[in-house]
Amino acid sequence: MTAQIIDGKSYAEGLRGRIAGHVARLKAEHGITPGLAVVIVGHDPASQIYVSNKARQTVEVGMYSEKYELPDTAPEAEVLALIEKLNADPKIHGILVQLPLPRQVDPNKVIATISPDKDVDCFTPASVGKVQIGLPGPVACTPLGCLMLLRDFVGDLAGKHAVIVGRSNLVGKPMAQLLLRENCTVTVAHSRTVDLPGVVRGADIVVAAVGRPLMIKGDWIKPGAAVIDVGINRIAAPEKGEGKTRTVGDVDFAAAKDVAGWITPVPGGVGPMTIACLLANTVTTASLINGLAPPSDLTP
Ligand code: NDP
Repeated sequence: MTAQIIDGKSYAEGLRGRIAGHVARLKAEHGITPGLAVVIVGHDPASQIYVSNKARQTVEVGMYSEKYELPDTAPEAEVLALIEKLNADPKIHGILVQLPLPRQVDPNKVIATISPDKDVDCFTPASVGKVQIGLPGPVACTPLGCLMLLRDFVGDLAGKHAVIVGRSNLVGKPMAQLLLRENCTVTVAHSRTVDLPGVVRGADIVVAAVGRPLMIKGDWIKPGAAVIDVGINRIAAPEKGEGKTRTVGDVDFAAAKDVAGWITPVPGGVGPMTIACLLANTVTTASLINGLAPPSDLTP
């Protein structure tokens, strides 16, 4: 069997097109322009790139965008005061604080200060709880992206055995909640799991969110399974020249694609979905803050 390759880049492009349509409708019918504020503290180069991409894509779909850049030395109180100001700003419907933060700023305090109504990353305990009990609200961006791909490529997920490898608050745990809501039978594996290959071999759906290059082998994959690779790892690529690197996932794509039914590549699979889902969450929060039902194609 040769897997269908799930092209996350082109799916994300289509999703941004749908988001732009929802934004245009919110503006025309309700006078609402969804607004996203991105806060970055310090000068981490990777964070700078992410933040610029987020700000650019926000504007491209017709949303209002604000970007705040604070110095490395910004005291915690200054960051918290900025978030309080954004919580109270009616133009802003989503607040994203780029992690990591410098040492003097406690990320837990920062997250606790973000209004759950504007928590487009779904980091606050209130937002996490809403996902768990199925109330409307933003959903962790990367798992939301994975779910959209699974639903649209695989179809009905009910009754399927999903194995999620990784139990982080960012990816593994919210992914498990979302797949439970789809009526999957969910197993969450982690570093203490016994016989991981055997566990993965039982999966109709594998979501790999580990951060270990090419860890999941082709012969761990059940024939016909859907494989969603969240991992982003840089490894040496001597074939490209001395000191060069390339990006790979947590799954041995070259081997797994000959066994799986569907598979996401890295790069070009889950990665492009994450920012698109951040924009989707901003439409969701802008709708809910204004007493409107969020668009059903942007929520689980
Ligand atoms: P974390 O480091 O927070 O979590 C990794 C998880 O993998 C932990 O639960 C850990 O288990 C588990 N794990 C580690 N080693 C093993 C092993 N040998 N066998 C089984 N499980 C293991 O990572 P994240 O969830 O934040 O990210 C995971 C990957 O996804 C990374 O490569 C990251 O870069 C990528 N990522 C990609 C995104 C995207 O947009 N595509 C977004 C977010 C992340 P334990 O809990 O027992 O320690």
